[in-house]
Order: sequence, then structure tokens, then C-alpha cells
Amino acid sequence: MLMLTMNDEKRRAAVLDGARVAEEIKREVASEVAAFRDKHGSVPCLVAVRVGHDPASAVYVRNKVRTSEMLGLRSEHHELPEETTTGELLAEIARLNARDDVDGILVQLPLPQNVAAARVLEAIDPAKDVDGFHPLNVGRLTLGRSGFAPCTPAGIIELLKRSGIGIRGQHACIVGRSHIVGRPLAQLLLQRDATVTICHSRTQELASLTRQADILIAAVGHVGLIRAEHVKPGASVIDVGMNKITDVETAREFFGENSTPRVEAIRKRGFTLVGDVHPAEVEKVAGHLTPVPGGVGPLTVAMLMRNTLTAAQQRRGVS
Ligand code: NAP
Repeated sequence: MLMLTMNDEKRRAAVLDGARVAEEIKREVASEVAAFRDKHGSVPCLVAVRVGHDPASAVYVRNKVRTSEMLGLRSEHHELPEETTTGELLAEIARLNARDDVDGILVQLPLPQNVAAARVLEAIDPAKDVDGFHPLNVGRLTLGRSGFAPCTPAGIIELLKRSGIGIRGQHACIVGRSHIVGRPLAQLLLQRDATVTICHSRTQELASLTRQADILIAAVGHVGLIRAEHVKPGASVIDVGMNKITDVETAREFFGENSTPRVEAIRKRGFTLVGDVHPAEVEKVAGHLTPVPGGVGPLTVAMLMRNTLTAAQQRRGVS
């Protein structure tokens, strides 16, 4: 257990304001979309495909469609019933691949159990694969060649860059090895000359590895897994996790003197969002920390907009 001194008790990590950086990226995209429209007489178009009635997916897709419209992009939301078969979804993807006016296609995950998700993601035209999940784009990322990088890891790199946190030569430790966050983020950090450690559920002595990190990223989906003992003093800590907690006592423990709005949120709507990092403990040790919400989440959507614009530019031969 890491011991905190009186001075450490008073320390507060600087907030890494993902929402502010996301707004900056969105302003840049909106202005490039306007220039694109003036030049081509049309705007980039994003199509989001959602299957079934998962309420969280519905919220994510609505948010993506609304953000596209705010930035001047065109967007469509294709809602398919829960019983949709793999074949029907592949036919839908084929139609979108063939449409010249569609620049970006995203299939909201998770898909229902009866659909072969890997086959669907592989069917998307790699030039329209704005989520960066197609094996060709994964391969390009691994080779350090240009392609679409997944939005959450790409957003984390922008956050570090635009917050003045150096990556070259730093030790970055990622907890979580998913194809959506952990692995692509490791590639992006390696490309920028970080020394990268990837941890997962079978990692032994987790704290002894995370404590070596100058940049620590938690992408696990486990409420408050990363505590003071996991963090090197002064480290930059990025919390990707998005978990719901529903009881007031846990909220008080996690947010300490800042818990009042969280307790009110639980009383009003039944939950509050917490990451994979224990905020009240870690903010006393870390140099920088992302909040949840308002850290990594908004960056993911901003980078999706950036990728859609890039897809449209590349499809029309504009770099
Ligand atoms: P995932 O696919 O479930 O992967 C979780 C990873 O954490 C796995 O690699 C797993 O190891 C590892 N893990 C589980 N328990 C662990 C433990 N006790 N110690 C160390 N590693 C452990 O999750 P994901 O899709 O990457 O998402 C992770 C979190 O980020 C979730 O809360 C998700 O909601 C959130 N998320 C947020 C955004 C955003 O925009 N803010 C975007 C994507 C995801 P194994 O591989 O060994 O199973």
C-alpha cells in the first residue's frame, strides 16, 4: 500500500480536460467541412448502423448523429431489428459500400449474439471504415502506415499532445488489451517512441508494473481498479472506463469531498458514471488525471468526425 505524506494529502492532479480538447477538434473539423462543401458542393456523409434495442447503443448513436449534424456533416441512422441475420446485415453493408455519397460507415457494437460481428466488420469497405476495425486498417496501424486508427485511442493521443504531455521516451502502461482500445493504443504510443507495457486479466503483480508508468491508461471496465498504490507520483493517468454505480456509499467513497453532485445524480436518475480509476485516491498521487465523464468519452466522438472528414477527403483525392 502506498503511504501518503501530509503534503501528498493536499496534492491534486491537474484535470486533463478531454471535453475542452474535443471541442477544439470539433471546431477544426467544422471549419474543414465548410471548406470541403465550398470546394465539392457536397458534405461528407456518415452512416451509423444499429441492430436491436440496446439502450446504451441507442444513446451513443444518437450522440454521433447529432454531433455530425452540428459540425455540418450529413448523417444517416439505419436501425435494424434484433432478428436481423448476418446475411441481411452484410447486404446492408454492401449497399452502403456501393453508395458513392456515403463516406463513413460505422456499425455500432455490440451486435446481437446471432450476428457474426467479425464478418460484418470485415465487409465494410476499408476506405469507409471510420471506426478503424477492419483487419486491413488494423494491419496498416501495426505497420505504421496510414489508415484509420480507432477513435478512442486516437483521441487519447490528441489529448496527450494538446495537453503538452510528452510521449517520446516515456514509459506508458496500458491496462486492458482489447481490439478497440488497448492494442491499437499500444501501436499509436509505440509509433511515437514510448516504451509500452500492456497488462490484462492474467497479469501478475499489476501494481509493480503500473507504478513504473509515466503515462498510465486504464481501459478495463472495472470500477475503481486503479488505486493510489498503482500510480507513480506525478504520472499522467488516463481513465477510459465507463461504469455505472448506483449506491450512495460507493459514490461517497470514490469522490470524497466532491461527492455531492454524484450522490444527487444517483438520487435523481439512479446512477452516476465512474471510471476504472479511483478518483479520490489517485488525484492525490497523479500529476494529471482525466475525469469521468468529460475525459476520454467526448474525444472518441470528435475523432469519429475527424475520420469521416478524412475518408471523404481521401475518396475525392484530397489529402
Ligand atoms: P474489454 O473488451 O472488456 O476489455 C477489457 C480488458 O481489461 C481485457 O483486456 C481484460 O483482460 C482486461 N482486464 C479485465 N479485468 C482485469 C483486471 N482485473 N486486471 C487487469 N486487466 C483486466 O473492454 P474495452 O472495450 O476495452 O473497454 C474498457 C472500458 O472502457 C469499458 O469500461 C468501456 O465502457 C470503456 N470504453 C470507453 C470508451 C470511451 O469512449 N470513453 C470507448 C471504449 C471503451 P483479458 O484480455 O485478459 O480478458
